[in-house]
Amino acid sequence: AKTLRLILGDQLNQKHSWFDRLDSDVTYLLMELKQETGYVRHHIQKVVGFFLAMRHFSDWLGENGHQVVYYRLDDQENKQSLSENIKWLIAEHRFERFEYQLPDEYRLDQQLRDLSKELEVDVKAFDAEHFLTERGYLKDFFKGKKTYLMETFYRAMRKQYNILMDGDEPLTGKWNYDHENRNKFKDPLLLVPPKVNYKDVSEIVALLQDMEVETIGKIDEKQFSWPVTRAESLGLITYFCEKLLPYFGVYQDAMYTGDAFLFHSRLSFAMNTKMLSPLEVVEQVEQYWYSHQEEVSIAQVEGFIRQIIGWREYMRGVYWAKMPDYASLNFFDHQRKLPNYYWTGKTKMNCLKHAIGQSLDHSYAHHIQRLMVTGNFALLAGIHPDEVDTWYLGIYIDAIEWVEITNTRGMSQFADGGIVGTKPYVSSANYIDKMSNYCEGCFYKKNLKVGEKACPFNSLYWHFYARNEAQLAKNPRIGMAYRTLAKMKDKEAILKQADYYLDHLDDL
Ligand code: FAD
Ligand code: SF4
Repeated sequence: AKTLRLILGDQLNQKHSWFDRLDSDVTYLLMELKQETGYVRHHIQKVVGFFLAMRHFSDWLGENGHQVVYYRLDDQENKQSLSENIKWLIAEHRFERFEYQLPDEYRLDQQLRDLSKELEVDVKAFDAEHFLTERGYLKDFFKGKKTYLMETFYRAMRKQYNILMDGDEPLTGKWNYDHENRNKFKDPLLLVPPKVNYKDVSEIVALLQDMEVETIGKIDEKQFSWPVTRAESLGLITYFCEKLLPYFGVYQDAMYTGDAFLFHSRLSFAMNTKMLSPLEVVEQVEQYWYSHQEEVSIAQVEGFIRQIIGWREYMRGVYWAKMPDYASLNFFDHQRKLPNYYWTGKTKMNCLKHAIGQSLDHSYAHHIQRLMVTGNFALLAGIHPDEVDTWYLGIYIDAIEWVEITNTRGMSQFADGGIVGTKPYVSSANYIDKMSNYCEGCFYKKNLKVGEKACPFNSLYWHFYARNEAQLAKNPRIGMAYRTLAKMKDKEAILKQADYYLDHLDDL
């Protein structure tokens, strides 16, 4: 039967079984849509990255003999809505079947279900053949549990896929080497430049302007640096193994003004668009390690693999276990607006200036910058989780709701009350100073809690605990903070300082 097959912008999986054989009855459909550029205000590099990767994917299909319809954003026929375009194409070209791969986003899942009911042709949904587990796996795995312990899930994945395993035991005797991976970065000579394949993207940038797509952040039109093909993405894995892996774990949590990427892989965009599968990334890294054990320690490799088959896979499972309710959770009932400097980087707080500044420049910040600088501050300042989600969903090149919202609302804002994490990730200047060189160049003083130059993180930290005592005091992992607070001599002055900062959030 004459079949229309939809491929979403984050389903660029060349290895999908759909493409195993040519079928003259099948037409593939990819679309650049205002619907997708407009559901949140995205970073310009994110929109460009997606469109470019989709165009390359469409070319690849064509070169391999498949039939493709590709709608550019400004095509006359493009109705800018996923459903409207599909309905029109089916009617116009008399398709008898419509097929799609299960989307990873709840929003699109609903839209495609609704559309399927409306269509008068046969509809079939396929697995996207990307993740290690099916959508509902994690929900069943933790049936009846309030907290979903990532480590338990991670170990099950290691066993199931036989990664770094010796039978049923971890290959090197231990499951987790996290405690070895917490160093401050001090040696600029170790730095290597990120792997880039620069391209000129001025045509797409002009298209976005013509079509009045509102974006945030900056772009160098002549030197776009994110991978947009499978070949480029594979190149990033090799580069990561050879140049970055030896220090990946050691400096995983470090933040440094002189380098936006340090030893991070920059693979999230390639994986989230499915140009790469998580399993192939992990298996390549594991293989590399087997033949380079003198240069690369197990702590580096295990740390990296845990991020992917552990955290990434787990977040996706939490998303499908908890949506749609998850999107409106607000455990602390936080209500404030995000301060203006999240959109400009213009603040006297050096840590936020750098973490936000590089996000605007590169559409990228690494995990600890997202968690312990921008996320930490938003939580301490009591920002509404909707505001925080909107920002993270827009600004990062790798931000797709299934992985953004679970990290932001869950891990970073504790708005789920403790499904993803066992306690809120908050800290004073102490942690930021321990892991970065940000405090050295700051207007504020990391050691002060009160006064004009007092670091805002310090008083806001105690304010956070004081105002949320009812929700948190019973948590056994937090008791210590409340005992300290109770004994604090200058408690009133510190809380007053925090109140002042909260009243003047935009001026910090
Ligand atoms: P590396 O440090 O090189 O790590 C390797 C890979 O591990 C990443 O590519 C990623 O696929 C995976 N990974 C690591 N940590 C996580 C995690 N917590 N959850 C899921 N995967 C993880 N990641 C996204 O892909 N999209 C998001 O929208 C996103 N939003 C985040 C929001 C907040 C508030 C926080 C704290 C984290 C968020 N993360 C998100 C997770 C993490 O920060 C990024 O995956 C990582 O920074 C991407 O850079 P990298 O590829 O260089 O990662
Ligand atoms: Fe950030 Fe405070 Fe350090 Fe300044 S002193 S960089 S505001 S933690």
